[in-house]
Amino acid sequence: MTNECGWIALAGSSPARDVLKGTQKADWLIVGAGITGLCAAHTLAEMHPQARIVIVDRQRAAQGASARNSGFVVGHEHPAKDELIGNPGFAGFEVDTSISRAASDEVRQRIARLGIECEFRESGYYFAVNDPGKLTDVAAKLATLRAVGAFAHFLEGEPLSKKLGTAHYRAAIWCGNGNALLQPAKYVKGLLDTLPANVTLFEDTDITGLERLGKGCIRANGTDGSIEARQVLVCLNAFIPRSGIDDSGTFPMELSASLTRPLSDAEFKSIGAVEPWGVLSTRPLGATVRLTPDRRVMIRNTAEYRSRDLSDSELLHRRKHHVLGLQRRFPFLSEQDIQYTWTGHLSASRTGQPYFSKVDEGVFAVAGCNGSGVARGTLWGRLLAELASGASSPILESVMRRAQPGWLPPRPLLDIGAMLRMRVEAVRAKTEI
Ligand SMILES: Cc1cc2nc3c(=O)[nH]c(=O)nc-3n(C[C@H](O)[C@H](O)[C@H](O)COP(=O)(O)OP(=O)(O)OC[C@H]3O[C@@H](n4cnc5c(N)ncnc54)[C@H](O)[C@@H]3O)c2cc1C
Repeated sequence: MTNECGWIALAGSSPARDVLKGTQKADWLIVGAGITGLCAAHTLAEMHPQARIVIVDRQRAAQGASARNSGFVVGHEHPAKDELIGNPGFAGFEVDTSISRAASDEVRQRIARLGIECEFRESGYYFAVNDPGKLTDVAAKLATLRAVGAFAHFLEGEPLSKKLGTAHYRAAIWCGNGNALLQPAKYVKGLLDTLPANVTLFEDTDITGLERLGKGCIRANGTDGSIEARQVLVCLNAFIPRSGIDDSGTFPMELSASLTRPLSDAEFKSIGAVEPWGVLSTRPLGATVRLTPDRRVMIRNTAEYRSRDLSDSELLHRRKHHVLGLQRRFPFLSEQDIQYTWTGHLSASRTGQPYFSKVDEGVFAVAGCNGSGVARGTLWGRLLAELASGASSPILESVMRRAQPGWLPPRPLLDIGAMLRMRVEAVRAKTEI
């Protein structure tokens, strides 16, 4: 089966750019053209209009995880038990929320400023469960979310099924004011298509390492060429080790998702002609599901710690899992109704916090989106560009203070530990896939 991302197919591709050949010189180099790298490029271009800025990607730009995600713009996370108001973790939750809210504002502003058409809906979304036992401490969660500025209310039973068009979910917290949904491939394609003239993009250009030359110059080596720059921003997320940075405290995960054909008029009517929605699970390995504005259903219900890509036959197996999840929510859907199935990579950390750092003189890097890089990547791109330009601001300082991804054991201990943890989480999420 083909690994084809439905969001990318529906968004269409931008015209292809050159592959890097020979030696290029630039003032600034950005490695990785996803949301983070492209937002860094926009910011650098605004701050340094006379500079030559180069951005490279090893595949088509804007077609990695940034196009393949579920399109949740995360302004408010579902609070964990120790983050509830009155608990020691609440202070950290407040700071993290102020960063996420700034990040979601940044998405809204970028979309408006650049005129990006990406089905952006500031509708909020649901933290919903099939097993009500998986949504505990509801009153404390509502109080916590409201204390940090969210709009939040609890739904269950018929009022909930009327909103979602399925009785699968039995309890939910709807959370708005910063939480939004968008079509991810259209968003990141919009960031790409509006790059200013002083930004040059090379595609299908795999950077295999960074090398320090004399006089403060850094060379990034690709397969058929190289780029020499004084400042390098590494925006590789799950692929950060490819730049030679292997102590970021982050690890890669591979997720898979499917998107159905649009529901027919009769099917749509049968589910109550509901408004588009998005559901996040309260369990890390539970399903993420959306009903899109064009009446398709998207499901992402596999996530695994992997250091090599899923094969086609492995992806076919994951698709069976998507079918099960779809049928639990909408029994009239079957495998034939799936139009696209794909995978994507993200980077995670033990603490849930990112790696955001000046690595060396002239080298800056970020990784560890932990599944909320649509908003955070948008903000981090700008902040990394500002850090590299010597600027400072309260939000940059706040991000740098929180950027503590935590210690990871060396491999193979990491592999074993991560695999075991994922198995436990999979069992805990059994009712929620
Ligand atoms: C299935 C899935 C669902 C998700 N859902 C959500 C969601 O709903 N909301 C949310 O906020 N986040 C979500 N995420 C996470 C989100 O997609 C990421 O946080 C975000 O895309 C990170 O953007 P980025 O630019 O940092 O990284 P990427 O988009 O991964 O960009 C990195 C780029 O670097 C390139 N690259 C890699 N190696 C090299 C190299 N050697 N040389 C040159 N270029 C290289 C890659 O090709 C890629 O384009 C999801 C992720 C996945 C996979």
